[in-house]
Amino acid sequence: MSRAPAVDLYSDTLTRPTAAMRDAMAAAEVGDEQLGEDPSVNRLCADVAARLGQEAALFLPTGTMCNLVAVATLTRHGDAVIADAMSHIARSEAGGAAAVSGVMCDLLDGPRGQYTTEQLRPALAPGTVHRPHPSLVCIEQTHNFGGGTVWDIDHYRAVVDLAHQSGVAVHVDGARLYNAVVASGVDATEWGGIVDSVWIDFTKGLGAPIGAALAGSAEFIQRARVLKQRFGGAMRQAGVAAAGCSHALDHHVDRLADDHANAARLADGLEAAGHVVQRPVETNMVWIDPSPTGRGAAELAGRFLEDGVRLSVVGERLRAVTHLDVTADQIDVAVSVAAGLRR
Ligand SMILES: *Cc1c(COP(=O)(O)O)cnc(C)c1O
Repeated sequence: MSRAPAVDLYSDTLTRPTAAMRDAMAAAEVGDEQLGEDPSVNRLCADVAARLGQEAALFLPTGTMCNLVAVATLTRHGDAVIADAMSHIARSEAGGAAAVSGVMCDLLDGPRGQYTTEQLRPALAPGTVHRPHPSLVCIEQTHNFGGGTVWDIDHYRAVVDLAHQSGVAVHVDGARLYNAVVASGVDATEWGGIVDSVWIDFTKGLGAPIGAALAGSAEFIQRARVLKQRFGGAMRQAGVAAAGCSHALDHHVDRLADDHANAARLADGLEAAGHVVQRPVETNMVWIDPSPTGRGAAELAGRFLEDGVRLSVVGERLRAVTHLDVTADQIDVAVSVAAGLRR
């Protein structure tokens, strides 16, 4: 299909900067970020650190680099990193943790992307002459391949406490942490303030074109800054990007509730049209099981696309993601297309 799809639910990474965001970026005060002299970057980092209940933050080009830097900072070669089997670190980063930090991923297969404390406990056993030493536990909030699911705060705290009791650090992949904040009503400081490392992405639901920020103790960030330099993540007049991120934090957080409402509307409409969706739908994602339609995931996605609705295919499932550039009217278009594709 050559023209753009009428309704693009492929990912919340598709958002374009709004006119107001572009204005903020154009007006940004800038300096040499690598020298620590970019005022817009410094302002953003101070804001992110405060919002996440941490001492300091580091501006990085991508969320993938936040995971890469955090794992490299908090582990040694040959250590084990404990993560959910469907986590982005394990599945979507070209093996970065293993390739760069030389760690093994100890993957726990938790329900909807969230392993239980019972699954975690044995994995925290200290290293022996045979077993690798576990030095880091990773939590993904919200959990993407788990279904856009939100870790419950009590479950989250129990995981963090258990890891810390074993002397193991905790890293939070918060690519969509603000979706969890809005869905749960639990403030970002509550999630961020009790872990060793946490980051947010500005290029998902928050709608900025470039940037992510990693937060932690001052000592952690000092060490992380060296790795940022080593990995080529240090920038120059990055305030142009950071101003877009600050604009996103100021203007695009509360509206994530609209994305969640649109996802709920889509899920209800799909079910009413006879499709099978993963429940509950907690944030901005709807995962569809194509099997009752008698079509494979790729084939069903192809049929949707012919009718102007783009979804993504993840394994044997379809994923629809709502975002800043998707309206409630477009959701209704997607639902009417879905109704024609039941059989
Ligand atoms: C998108 C994503 C990342 C990586 O972020 P980028 O900014 O695309 O590099 C990491 N973790 C999760 C859960 C994500 O969804």
